[in-house]
Amino acid sequence: SDSELLLLDSGKANSSSDLPLASLNKVLTEDSAAGKVKRKRAQTPLEKYYLTYLCVTDLSTQSWCEQQMVYGRELPPLQAPETVVLLNTGKSIHLARELEVHDVVKVHTTSKEDSWAIKILNLLSVIPVLQAGGCVRELPVFGVIEDVFLTGIIDELCYSAKGELELRELKTRGRPFMPSGAQKKRDYFQVCLYKYIFDAMVQGQLKPDVITNHIQLRPEQPLGSQIREHAQKVGFTVTSFGDLLELMYLNLTLSDIPSIDCLKIEYSHQESNTLLGTEVVRFEEEKVREKAQNYLAYWKGQREVQGVEIEEAWKCQSCSYSEICDWRKKRAEGPEQRSGPKKSK
Ligand code: SF4
Repeated sequence: SDSELLLLDSGKANSSSDLPLASLNKVLTEDSAAGKVKRKRAQTPLEKYYLTYLCVTDLSTQSWCEQQMVYGRELPPLQAPETVVLLNTGKSIHLARELEVHDVVKVHTTSKEDSWAIKILNLLSVIPVLQAGGCVRELPVFGVIEDVFLTGIIDELCYSAKGELELRELKTRGRPFMPSGAQKKRDYFQVCLYKYIFDAMVQGQLKPDVITNHIQLRPEQPLGSQIREHAQKVGFTVTSFGDLLELMYLNLTLSDIPSIDCLKIEYSHQESNTLLGTEVVRFEEEKVREKAQNYLAYWKGQREVQGVEIEEAWKCQSCSYSEICDWRKKRAEGPEQRSGPKKSK
């Protein structure tokens, strides 16, 4: 086949949600400036869950209800069987679309650097396609917002008839109608974050040390033989992880790939595979940054977890955690019981 290859890590999935949970009460001991007096500080959520990075979908899930996102991490999955079926069908549809443009190959990895090398090779392999005006699917993106490393996967990037670079996100739905305003808001935030990160990448902000410092990776680490072989196949001769990072940086900055001009979300009905509608999303950089800042403040331990505001209490009716939710209990007891700044909209 002359289609592109998409490399998959054959080892354990490396998503942030697969990482182990730490004890909830653990505290860190750190030296004071004088180096003598030891004081204790509470772990930030990033530390508590051993996370060196977050996924864009972590933040979009958080924008629905932060408390629900936290319960989802700390408690066993409480998804209804029909939700699981819906999610699995959604994944199969994405995979089928992906296979239309490239083959998927499993690659054996031997280190954390190898796993990241796969993401970078996948990114490197789509740069020439975009440069040639082609369409790419499942494009990995990485970047930093508020000193937190974020990763994501863009469903599709294509040039429109007008020559604008267009991001298309596919959302499949179990019900044959468009989502509510609140669900759309969550999806809008997701695609805006993709644009934010992608634009920074092609503008040369993703320097090699940004990745190694945030994810604690070793640039000098030799790459595994299978990774080197695949790199060779797509035209890159690399020995160490650092070589690949340099190549990524140079290819991104010298590529002349434009920023994303247009954000679109396509909603389709899973069962009938019919398009329900397309939303065009307006990108307002300042608002996206403010929202991300607010959500990341929780991850960095700068504020307590928050549930939904009273005007969105209807979300609690369909929430699996409504029986045990502390936020909901406190809200029922009265507004004075709650603490923390109001959530930004
Ligand atoms: Fe959030 Fe409401 Fe669920 Fe609590 S019950 S987690 S506030 S949606």
